Amino acid sequence: MPIKKTMPKPVREALSQLHLLINNSRIIKGTLVYLRNTCGKSNCKCAKGEKHISLYIKQNLKGETKITLIPKSRWQDVKQMVDNYKKAVQLLNTVSDFEWRHLKDKP
Ligand SMILES: [Zn+2]
Repeated sequence: MPIKKTMPKPVREALSQLHLLINNSRIIKGTLVYLRNTCGKSNCKCAKGEKHISLYIKQNLKGETKITLIPKSRWQDVKQMVDNYKKAVQLLNTVSDFEWRHLKDKP
């Protein structure tokens, strides 16, 4: 169905950005969680109150919360992937909202 030509510019732009994002980026769904903890070593800075920071990613799957530690070497990478997911959902919603508004249009 050649509907793309009739779509308004913001919707066409959302579709094109979505394609770019999907083709060129890695995407992960989840919420980032920072936890501050101690390692147990008595001579460590964390024993004096300067706790270690760990980054986890969590998501709900069928009512169960899944949480996984992210290695420090991947923090930037995973933060970007989470942002990419949010951006993709936003773009997809723009397209879907347009379709909802035009459900009664003749094909
Ligand atoms: Zn420590």
